[in-house]
Amino acid sequence: MQVCRAAYSYFENHYSAAGKHTHHSHTVRNRRSPPGTVSMDDIVGNTHSTISAPSDQKKKKRPRRVVGPKPKLNKVEKSDDIEDINFAKDETLEIRVSLLKWYDENQRDLPWRRISCKGEDGEDVEESDKRAYAVWVSEVMLQQTRVQTVIDYFNKWMEKWPTLYHLSQASLEEVNEMWAGLGYYRRARFLLEGAKMIVEEGGGFPKAVPALRKVKGIGDYTAGAIASIAFKQVVPVVDGNVVRVIARLKAISTNPKDTVTVKKIWKLAGQLVDPCRPGDFNQALMELGATVCTPSSPSCDGCPISSKCQALLLSGCHDSVQVTDYPMKVVKSKQRHDFAAVTVVEILEGPNMEDHAQSNSKFVLVKRADKGLLAGLWEFPSVLLGGEADSAMRREVINRFLKSSFSLDPSKSCDIVSREDVGEYVHVFSHIRLKMYVELMVLRIKGFWNKRQGGDGIKWKFVDRQTLSSMGLTSGVRKVYSMIENYNQSRVSSLRAEARPRKVTRKSRN
Ligand code: SF4
Repeated sequence: MQVCRAAYSYFENHYSAAGKHTHHSHTVRNRRSPPGTVSMDDIVGNTHSTISAPSDQKKKKRPRRVVGPKPKLNKVEKSDDIEDINFAKDETLEIRVSLLKWYDENQRDLPWRRISCKGEDGEDVEESDKRAYAVWVSEVMLQQTRVQTVIDYFNKWMEKWPTLYHLSQASLEEVNEMWAGLGYYRRARFLLEGAKMIVEEGGGFPKAVPALRKVKGIGDYTAGAIASIAFKQVVPVVDGNVVRVIARLKAISTNPKDTVTVKKIWKLAGQLVDPCRPGDFNQALMELGATVCTPSSPSCDGCPISSKCQALLLSGCHDSVQVTDYPMKVVKSKQRHDFAAVTVVEILEGPNMEDHAQSNSKFVLVKRADKGLLAGLWEFPSVLLGGEADSAMRREVINRFLKSSFSLDPSKSCDIVSREDVGEYVHVFSHIRLKMYVELMVLRIKGFWNKRQGGDGIKWKFVDRQTLSSMGLTSGVRKVYSMIENYNQSRVSSLRAEARPRKVTRKSRN
């Protein structure tokens, strides 16, 4: 283990002289991947959600630090002002040493941690820009989903765009396709725009936090991660995992989303970060939160810094206190409920009108607006509804949309081969619960149809089955398409079953 020598000697001298140092043997069993969900709001959850640094926060009234949940206050300790909480020098050094030792022995082998190459002198050297790019991509992806899911996306991404320059040459459509299924497509767009910006400016990857913060899509968290991991800058990184660990270490149960608490946690994280191995230390703290100090079942027995944990100390002294009381649970804001009519328009071009799977049919895809939810992504024609709506009402709004957008009038310019409700599907975004009513409309065009015409500036295209299956589609669109596939499959099976000659039984012959 490499640790800052000055820190080590201070730590060893101090503790051996005082006779206070006790060696902790820590084993972490059943290490788990962070079940990182994606919500930016869920900072008390076991996520990789990021927390903005104090610079972006407005001043608010200073909260009081509450030791233990409110009703238990009388039984526990006095309340201190959160501003007074700090890590003592000795405490800091012990946490650094223990945590880095644990990290060296337990860190997960992840592809973005492996990115380094051989230098000309034959020694292992880091290509810091390449590493910064890898850290950037991986950190943005980790804000979306679990580590295990990210590994696959990350490897494919780096294979396609191994450097910042390669990414800067990509199109938004390619990036969206690669990102399909991860959600928060705005972040993928920012990655692309940020890459273009850095390449256009020509000065290489910015190294310091203030310069990194100027790059599109790089916030406080990502800037801290890139600066410390790729460029060894001694700066902290605070995500939901770090908030949880520090809140427990210091028994802080004020609202972790409160401006002053956020500011304090950044300050405390800044006190802890190891000056010799800042990147490793930040990763160790996040990894501890993700794998040991989890939201609902922390493994305190295997925690390398348990001797410094005030939440653990309090829980040992008071039956009414648990380490999971820290930090305070924040009630999530209510989700908005939206409703949409989604129509998969299948246009038959082949001879066999009954067997859709065999025909040369094509599907209409519409490009969403360049701003807002799922900006610039392809989807089946859909219209937002004011609320729950019956089938007749949904068909009416969809007919109007098809006519105004594609000059496609189901009652005049086409033969409607079939039109059936396929089912409902609820897609949950972080703040919206979208209920989609899915129908399949199979058409055969009558006469001439000017396919180029698209009203209201709507972009759309025709794609065949093969293209649709291989395209990078959002998980919501993919789910709708699989509903259609299943529906068609069962329809074809029942048509075939009906067409099969029935066995003539003795009874029927009589
Ligand atoms: S002792 Fe338990 S609660 Fe405290 S930091 Fe370690 S895992 Fe978290």
